Amino acid sequence: MALPSFPAAWRVTTLALCLVLGMPAWAHPSAGATVLAQAETAPPPAARAREGVDVGRNSAFAKLVPADEIEAAATKQYNEMMRTAASQKALALPDHPQLQRLRHIAQRLIPFAYEWNPRARQWKWEVNLLTNKQVNAFCMPGGKIGFYTGILDQLQLTDDEVAQVMGHEIAHALREHARARMGKGAATNIGASIVSQLLGLGDLGRTVASYGVELISLKFSRDDETEADLVGLELAARAGYDPRAGVTLWKKMQAANKGAPPQWLSTHPAGTTRITEIEKALPLVMPLYERASKD
Ligand SMILES: [Zn+2]
Repeated sequence: MALPSFPAAWRVTTLALCLVLGMPAWAHPSAGATVLAQAETAPPPAARAREGVDVGRNSAFAKLVPADEIEAAATKQYNEMMRTAASQKALALPDHPQLQRLRHIAQRLIPFAYEWNPRARQWKWEVNLLTNKQVNAFCMPGGKIGFYTGILDQLQLTDDEVAQVMGHEIAHALREHARARMGKGAATNIGASIVSQLLGLGDLGRTVASYGVELISLKFSRDDETEADLVGLELAARAGYDPRAGVTLWKKMQAANKGAPPQWLSTHPAGTTRITEIEKALPLVMPLYERASKD
């Protein structure tokens, strides 16, 4: 395709790197003992669960690969992408209104990310906009966010919808889906060579290159996608963005799919199941949205 011909290699890795990280601080109900202690004096709180969505712990497989290595690799790759885009005049400058809009939305979402992954507090979050017709967006491990102008323009996304896309991508990072996939690969030997490079050689250049090759075949599982939808909905709701935009977003994606299928859809099927699941989760997050500051 003609347009901003970013090198195929990084287009590929970007997609693949629609990656992730995480470890919810609230993790698991250490509440048992407390509940018992209170039982004599107060009626047992029926559901003392945390408000919002419930997706359980991060995958244990993630622990097999060091988070800082993945984050460092992602950072290097992200910087290379941005450098390449800049050299092709395809990187939006700081005064670009759409970039300012994205950064504003990110600023509102990010404080709510920490609860899902303590590392996120230290991440050097970045948000950039690439002038490219692809309908695509990503958040790499370590909080490196990229949007393509195509997704904003072609789908005419509202701020609420942008927050859903961004929340979804950030959720992949917080939940460490990429790290878990790599860990799982190591555990099953399939990705052992990649992981040993990652762990041992310290040759980041080679690691990143290997990553790209390996990750292209790593499409996130349906479960990972559902998780990212739910966590994204909650992040957006807490930040004051209407969770019902999750439904309109996916309907727009579906409609767009009738023409040339958006890039994002190749990794994010916009089936009716997805929309139904989002609708089902709305009651969990609407109260958060209603109480949230809308500034
Ligand atoms: Zn996804």
